This record gives sequence, C-alpha cells and structure tokens, in this order.
Amino acid sequence: MIPISTSRARDAAAREPLGLYLHVPFCRDRCTYCSFVTTRDESLKGAVLARLRRDLAQWGEALGRPAIDTLYLGGGTPSLLTAPELEDLTAWTREAFDTSRLEEATLEANPGTLDLAWLEAARALGWDRVSFGVQALDDELLARLGRIHASAEALDALAWARRAGFARISADLMVGIPGQRLERVLQDARTLVEAGATHLSVYLLDLDKACPLRAQIDAGRLALPSEDEVADAFEALQEELPRLGLPPYEISNYAQPGQESRHNSRYWERRPYLGLGPSAASQLGDWRWTESGVITAWAEDRDRPEVQELDAAEALSEIPLLGLRMHRGVDWEALRRRGEALNLTPLVDAWEAQLDPLTRRGLLVREGSMLRLTSHGMLMSNGILGIFVQ
Ligand code: SF4
Repeated sequence: MIPISTSRARDAAAREPLGLYLHVPFCRDRCTYCSFVTTRDESLKGAVLARLRRDLAQWGEALGRPAIDTLYLGGGTPSLLTAPELEDLTAWTREAFDTSRLEEATLEANPGTLDLAWLEAARALGWDRVSFGVQALDDELLARLGRIHASAEALDALAWARRAGFARISADLMVGIPGQRLERVLQDARTLVEAGATHLSVYLLDLDKACPLRAQIDAGRLALPSEDEVADAFEALQEELPRLGLPPYEISNYAQPGQESRHNSRYWERRPYLGLGPSAASQLGDWRWTESGVITAWAEDRDRPEVQELDAAEALSEIPLLGLRMHRGVDWEALRRRGEALNLTPLVDAWEAQLDPLTRRGLLVREGSMLRLTSHGMLMSNGILGIFVQ
C-alpha cells in the first residue's frame, strides 16, 4: 500500500533517479550487540519475499516505472538468500523499475554464509559491489561479538569476491570492542586493504539498546575501551587509511578514489530513496517514512508506516546536518541563498553564530564557499552536528 499521494510521489520520482534499498531481515544467529530488525526464523522467508515482490510491483506501477541509479540489498544477511531467490528478487526489481541508468548495485554479505559460487551467481546477475560485515580479524573478538564467522572466513570471502569479478569490495570494521587494542585495529585495516578491500566503513560499537553484550558489560564481566582509547583508534585510522590509499569521504567511510558508495552518499546528499522491507526508510520529496520493524506485521501489511512531511526549516537543516558528514562539506553560500529564498535567514544566522567559535577552534574550516569539518572536527561530530537538529 502506497502511504503517500501517488501523483505528488510520481512528480518527485520523475525529477531524478531514485535509490532503492531492499531489506532482507534474516540472520543465522544474532550477534551479541545487534539491535537491527532481523530474525533467525527462515520459515518467514516466503512471506517476506512475497511482500517484497508485491511492493516492488506496486511502487513501480504507482511511480510510472521510475529510473533508479543505485540499488542496495541490506539486512540482516542478504547472503542468506539462495542464488535462485536472489535471481527472483533481481528480476522483480528490473521489471518494476527502469535500471538502464543503474550506476551501482550493492549486496551486504556475511562471510560466514557464502561461497565462491554464490558470489559468482550474484555477479552474473549484475550486482557489482559487495559489502562484507567483517568487524574485526581477531577470532577472540569475533566470538565476543557473536559473529558466526572466523577471521579466515572473512579473508576467504574477500578473495572469492575478487575471483568472482567484484571490483568494488567494502568491509565493515568496528572500533570500541571490549578487549580490542589500537595496534590490532590498525593491523586489521591493513590486512583488509591488502586482501582487496577498496572501501572501509569504520563504526563505533553502539550499545545504546539492550543486548547481551551490554548486559555482560553492565554485570562487570567485560569492559569497554576508554573514550581516549577509542578516540586514539579513530585518529590513528584517519592517518593510516589515506596512507593505504583510502582517504576519508565521510565521517565513517574511507575509499579508494572512485570507490565511494554512491548509494550511501545519496543519504548525505538528501537525494531521494525508496526503502522496501521491514524497518526500511524512505525519503521522497519532503516525505519520510519507515516501514514496520515487526517482521510478521510488515509481511502481512498490518502495520502501516507513519508519514512525516518535513517543513521548510527541517528540510533546510538537513542539508548541513547530513552534508557536513561528508569530507567535502557543504556549500554554505548556496545554503544561505536557499535560506533567504525560504525566509529562513535568521535560522542560518543563528547557525553561523554557533559555528564561528568552532571554526576558530579548528573544528571547521571555510574554503571558498565550502564549509567542512576538519579531521579533529570529525572526531567530535556528534556535538557539532547537534546544532542543526530541529
Ligand atoms: S549479522 Fe548484522 S544484522 Fe545480523 S545479527 Fe549480526 S549485526 Fe545483526
């Protein structure tokens, strides 16, 4: 069921190609830190794929078979789809959407769930970028995280991806795992790049929500690294990854030039995207909504998403809130002109008053009309970007 006005959505989709995200909510086991929408119950696969098929067809028809330029299969664990299931999902997508301008098709994959044949099948279907959830290359840490794979399997997966013909390979690396040492983070980053990763996403272990790892820490059985140790690790990676040929292009992301994720970049550039699947988020025009995170309710279309329509101030705020995450920053003069056109100059002035002292402290830098975070500012981005939260 389309939750927004079809005619206005069609206009928005006609203005520029969309990004399409599909969520595959299955995992073989739940990691000890995970709060994503996922289940071990693969008996739900048929119902989930059937709803994805319906949604793809309905959206394609409602929007007039719009063009998509990026496609992203995330999860969960998309590599739990069999090759025939992946073939079906790819075919339904191509039937419903115009993929003639597709620039990138990414699959997330768990190294513990795949083999060379699966990667070859995915590549033959046109998927050209693979993103592996590696997290670390230390088996003790991987066991602590409840990952189902060992480090050797992660390195095998990267080698198979290269053999299968993937020229664009990303790996996730986690910082802040209990027991993780700085030297080990750097060593893992080097090993991943040597193994063929052309893109690295570096995340801080996030234990905000209740999960088994949080419980172990609260019970005093494990200890998180200190804030200083974590900051040192991020700073060391900021220095080391450019030396390995992967400069940063976003707060958490590093890539060889030309290997940046075009799909993820669209989130920071506020370009439109459609997300299908439980918990998937969409933004089209100034509308935004998130599908139900209850997998069975989503599959049966029982839990309709609430649509939020952003007002002019909220939409304007998102330009720096998201854009400053990117290394190139935001065209501040263009933002100011846009603010003037929307009668929101006082809002832009208020931001500037808060940003100027941060610029003097070296956390931000102006280069021509562009404003961007410095390396030091990237490490303190949460506090800085909070200025733009409406
Ligand atoms: S593989 Fe990812 S989505 Fe699945 S349980 Fe682990 S962290 Fe969660």
